[in-house]
Amino acid sequence: MSLRIAARPKLEKGGRFDVVIVGGGPAGLSAAVYASRFLLKTVVLTVDVGGQLNLTNWVDDYPGFSRISASELVARFRDHAQSFGVTIVPGVEVKSVMRENGLFRVLGTGGVDVYSGSVIIAVGAMRRKLGVPGEEEFQGRGVSYCSICDAPLFKGRNAVVVVGGGDSALEGAALLSSYVGRVYLVHRRGEFRAKPVLVKEVLARDNVELLLNSVVTEILGGDSVKAVKVLNKVTGETRILEVDGIFIEIGFEPAREFFKSIGLEVDEYGYVKVDEWMRTNIPGVFAAGDAINMWRGFRQIVTAAATGAVAAYSAYQYLIEKGLYRPASFK
Ligand code: NAP
Repeated sequence: MSLRIAARPKLEKGGRFDVVIVGGGPAGLSAAVYASRFLLKTVVLTVDVGGQLNLTNWVDDYPGFSRISASELVARFRDHAQSFGVTIVPGVEVKSVMRENGLFRVLGTGGVDVYSGSVIIAVGAMRRKLGVPGEEEFQGRGVSYCSICDAPLFKGRNAVVVVGGGDSALEGAALLSSYVGRVYLVHRRGEFRAKPVLVKEVLARDNVELLLNSVVTEILGGDSVKAVKVLNKVTGETRILEVDGIFIEIGFEPAREFFKSIGLEVDEYGYVKVDEWMRTNIPGVFAAGDAINMWRGFRQIVTAAATGAVAAYSAYQYLIEKGLYRPASFK
């Protein structure tokens, strides 16, 4: 199944919805499925459809599918929501959510300007940066933040560095080892936080070299990346690895500025504070998925989907309580 995105639906300026869902990953799309089952007029405004699922290859832990390609799973989420009448508008970055006359006015890129009785924030999280010299300079010229997306571009190259010790880095190292001659996996600690099955897969590759307790201190190059400086924190030794690229897979950061602009309360790490019903500090605004402060150490598709479903239920309850929702047949 391809992830081809159909022509972007046009949204009427000033159009009114029961729920605007910001973000089209597993949390946002699950919220959309549930909201539409509650007969809420629902729109998903999103930069891309699939969110972080677009950064992975295969999924083997989503119940009901022992192995499914991530793109197919995204397509199924999307098709499921659309089959219930949800409008999905990709290519939109939501810029503001503000109260206006008892509703929320949601403004986004591309002239999006709609009103809604409730809002679900499911924007996921953003890629973390290393913050070392050369990182900005060589971004897109050998510095990548997505092995799954960019590995094929390195086919036949001599060597690359992968940084990180989580699922993304280990999955990336395994994948890249099929495309390039040598993969250096640089991790700041002596143990990996990735799933054991991924660690096992990497250890089975004889062209992956582990550089543990080590950090990247500089990325060097000319037109593109040529080498990466790595410091072993235990021995103090610095190595210069001659490589064609570096894949920085060190996790995600919350969308702090966006949350702040809406007035959402966040936890000490910057994730949106929610209660068990996905209610934020702003009545009528709910949050779900990787944007929230729950289960921070265990971000899964199934947990994102679960919080999306709960957020939709809460939005529905809120709309009824506030007298903002009229069942479809009475509209
Ligand atoms: P993650 O689990 O947060 O891991 C980030 C890794 O980068 C950690 O090993 C961390 O080191 C390291 N790190 C963080 N900041 C760093 C810095 N400034 N310098 C050097 N290293 C740094 O992120 P992720 O691997 O991207 O995974 C995110 C979520 O997606 C997880 O829930 C994961 O399970 C999920 N995911 C699943 C799959 C799959 O199931 N196939 C694939 C990809 C992602 P420490 O270990 O020392 O903290």
